[in-house]
Amino acid sequence: MSNIITRFPPSPTGYLHVGGARTGLFNWLYARHTGGKFVLRIEDTDVRRSTRASVDAIFEALEWMGIEWDDGPYFQSKRFDIYKEYVRKLLDSGRAYYCDCTPEQVEEMRKRGMAAGGKAKYDGACREKGLSAGENRVVRFKAPLTGATVLEDAVKGNIVFQNAELDDFILERSDGAPTYNFVVVVDDITMGINTIIRGDDHVSNTPKQIQLYKALGADLPTFAHVPMVLGKDKARLSKRHGAMSVTEYQKMGYLPDALINYLVRLGWSHGDQEFFHRNELIEKFSLDHIGKSAGVFDPDKLLALNAEHIQAAPAASLIPHLTPFLKAMGIAAEDQEYLSKVIETLKPRSKTLLEMAEAALFYYTDEIVYEEKAARKFLKPDVLDPLNLLVTQLEGLNDFSEKELEGAFLRVMDTTGLKLGKIAQPVRVALTGKTASPGIFEIVEILGKERVIARLTAAARFIEEKS
Ligand code: GLU
Repeated sequence: MSNIITRFPPSPTGYLHVGGARTGLFNWLYARHTGGKFVLRIEDTDVRRSTRASVDAIFEALEWMGIEWDDGPYFQSKRFDIYKEYVRKLLDSGRAYYCDCTPEQVEEMRKRGMAAGGKAKYDGACREKGLSAGENRVVRFKAPLTGATVLEDAVKGNIVFQNAELDDFILERSDGAPTYNFVVVVDDITMGINTIIRGDDHVSNTPKQIQLYKALGADLPTFAHVPMVLGKDKARLSKRHGAMSVTEYQKMGYLPDALINYLVRLGWSHGDQEFFHRNELIEKFSLDHIGKSAGVFDPDKLLALNAEHIQAAPAASLIPHLTPFLKAMGIAAEDQEYLSKVIETLKPRSKTLLEMAEAALFYYTDEIVYEEKAARKFLKPDVLDPLNLLVTQLEGLNDFSEKELEGAFLRVMDTTGLKLGKIAQPVRVALTGKTASPGIFEIVEILGKERVIARLTAAARFIEEKS
């Protein structure tokens, strides 16, 4: 067990976004890679925007991805006493003070600052007033006025911020609510977080946070700011680039391992390897190969990777992922052994689990509905004899192994003088209703004698009725 402690602190203001999930994954992988700890914290201080439904959606998405946390979930909304205590500490040590400037006055200061060619900032009017608590008073941080604050970032290198550019930011609002940068630092200190991997949209917050760590006498964590994920057009990732919610990918039939693989590769690399199993990611993930440029989200690549993961997964491991899709189509699929065989035939031809479930339908229904074009092209009077012949041949078989089946088909070919393709395609339509399916022998073997004969007979009847 190492002493690395990372965290994932989503704000519950909507579904879990793929970009946010990627940051969570980085923290989770780093904790798992180092044998450290991964903490989940719900940043719900913005009570107007935070909802219980979003919290549940985040849990659900993490659970589906198989991301387990070792500590938490902590809820910021339940930690107000701790934040109060830390405000007190900073007030007592002289690193914070009460300020009674009105919003209008602060606005004036900002304008003046700008007009003087400087920064729009609070000018420290109340710094030395020694005000005590009172109505309409906020608590401000007494920030260093000179010198520089350096962010030693594990991804970006050193970033220097001039302290003169920063101001005495608010720690606690007049209604007693603590501010974002303050609670993050208090949480990270009290939760023992020593490695913070997050989106580089937070870089500008970091100097303030570093100053707070120092004022509180706490050790600085390692910061790793990861470039954002962008769309193909290099714009900030949004709905028009494809589905954004992790749960949507679940619903579309993606494997969690494929989504994880894809998201992690968007900002981290290991040579030019693209395909990773979950355990391999854990084994290989490190901070030094996080990329410096933005990852570009490409739904087509994600789909292709999903197909690869489906193909690589043992059938048994796909069962729990596929079953909900089958159930939604009214298929109970209780026989696991049968389902495994079904999956094995569909793996090479399914890009998603949804596609796989749809393709599996013919294995489970007795009422085969022929696609109109397929029936018109392949279920014609000239195949009536070959179909009947095949039924007779199959009836004579004791075992439905591939070898036996081949023999039966060969005898029909011999008798009729037809090529395999001429027989296989009508048989395929008879058994599946479609012109594309897994290999004909595989299907016949899995469906078994009784069902195959019933379907071939039904197709023969269909042809007779039509003509
Ligand atoms: N709650 C913040 C967010 O969703 C995370 C802040 C952080 O990582 O420090 O962006």
